[in-house]
Amino acid sequence: MEVLYKSTRGDGSTVTASQAILKGLAEDGGLFVPLQIPALDVPVAELTKMSYQEVAYEVMSRFFTDFTEEELKSCIDRAYDEKFDTKDIAPLHEADGVYYLELFHGATIAFKDMALSILPHLLTTSAKKNQVKNDIVILTATSGDTGKAAMAGFADVPGTKIIVFYPKDGVSPVQEKQMLTQKGKNTYVVAIRGNFDDAQTGVKKIFNDKAMAEELNEQGFQFSSANSINIGRLVPQVAYYVYAYASLVRMGKLADGEQMNVVVPTGNFGNILAAYYAKNMGLPIGKLICASNENKVLYDFFSTGSYDRNREFILTGSPSMDILISSNLERLIHRIAGSEETNKEMMNALSKIGKYEITDEMKAQLSDFYGNYATEDETGAVIKKLYEKTGYVLDTHTAVAAAVYEKYIEESDDKRTTVIASTASPYKFARNVLHAIDGEKFDPLTDMEQIDALCETAKVPVPKAIEEIRTAPVLHDTVVEVDEMDGIVKKILAI
Ligand SMILES: *Cc1c(COP(=O)(O)O)cnc(C)c1O
Repeated sequence: MEVLYKSTRGDGSTVTASQAILKGLAEDGGLFVPLQIPALDVPVAELTKMSYQEVAYEVMSRFFTDFTEEELKSCIDRAYDEKFDTKDIAPLHEADGVYYLELFHGATIAFKDMALSILPHLLTTSAKKNQVKNDIVILTATSGDTGKAAMAGFADVPGTKIIVFYPKDGVSPVQEKQMLTQKGKNTYVVAIRGNFDDAQTGVKKIFNDKAMAEELNEQGFQFSSANSINIGRLVPQVAYYVYAYASLVRMGKLADGEQMNVVVPTGNFGNILAAYYAKNMGLPIGKLICASNENKVLYDFFSTGSYDRNREFILTGSPSMDILISSNLERLIHRIAGSEETNKEMMNALSKIGKYEITDEMKAQLSDFYGNYATEDETGAVIKKLYEKTGYVLDTHTAVAAAVYEKYIEESDDKRTTVIASTASPYKFARNVLHAIDGEKFDPLTDMEQIDALCETAKVPVPKAIEEIRTAPVLHDTVVEVDEMDGIVKKILAI
């Protein structure tokens, strides 16, 4: 059965999966959604025998119906290979009766790798399928994690170039070193003298520059985006929930058909939406537990039905969740609204006055979800408690989820088997993690010394991604003013 895609704000006109991947965002500003969520028509007994790559194929082939089997399998095989430090790709780790789904075994040790290692291949395959002759130039603004994961994914992928902008003084030392040591003839990193918003606004301006697009086209280039609203990032994420379920059945922890709960540390609402899609495909998922940090706009939304971004932006120890506009929530709003019109009204209100309110009928369709949040203290306390009880060390984002799960259990007494999406290696946030476990003891150490101290504590080998940056040579050193961003793009592309 063919699955077509339409915009959440459009007139109902449709595009194929490969066209949706190429476009990223619809021209009307909406997000592409499938006309219907396909069924996962593979028996669980079959799934339990499959590798990660095989499960990924079963899931993705149901959504990306205009890809041939050969095309899709080739994308999957090139994405989920030795870049991951375990053959399982997304292993489960049991600690204190809960299953942590470790999504951080890829090139940059955060869960963004799960989608960004395959997106380049989906994108270049989509370009070929649609007779696009130009090279694709990916432009990305990053506050740290996405830029590196995108570069690692696109490095030396034929037919692509990637240019990443980051705020010179707005990323952590480890994040900066990770980016500046990025290899690949087609990767470019540019620091700007400004903040993340300046970088983001600058990139949007370049995207909307028609004259520049024409110049680019004449030279055989076109822009695209690796942003998390691309359907080519969302669908690969559905796969690991299916894989986790099959793994639990294989391990005898779940009976075939028995429900599992899922807890997701949430920022842009991409990861948890993927779990919602998995449930709608027919995977036996019970509650979808949405965990926020102190930027608890989603908790407020799930408890009141009102989404309101008019509030202070709080910098937390889980920076990848410091977000006040969760872009992917639009796909859920569109689904429960049942119409493009209603969704569009709400999104217009969000951009004009920073808030909207859903109707009671819409609210009634959110019973699959439970939302709550954890404070900085609660997050640190969970890291310490789990470490002392089991020796397992969580990163700060995953700890937000673990803390929220505790609140959920207290309120509900729900005994179903539970999977917590573990979105980053603790090594990526060593300073905060050590501080949670040992107080001020290690605070004076440098970032690299923190890594060694964490290794002593966690008894987990330092990941390759971290070892590499200790000695890797710095390969990028470009710094520009905010108003020089378009100029540097032209210079890089020699146009
Ligand atoms: C991006 C990110 C998140 C949030 O995921 P969303 O899909 O944006 O909700 C959580 N944890 C880490 C470590 C991340 O990098």
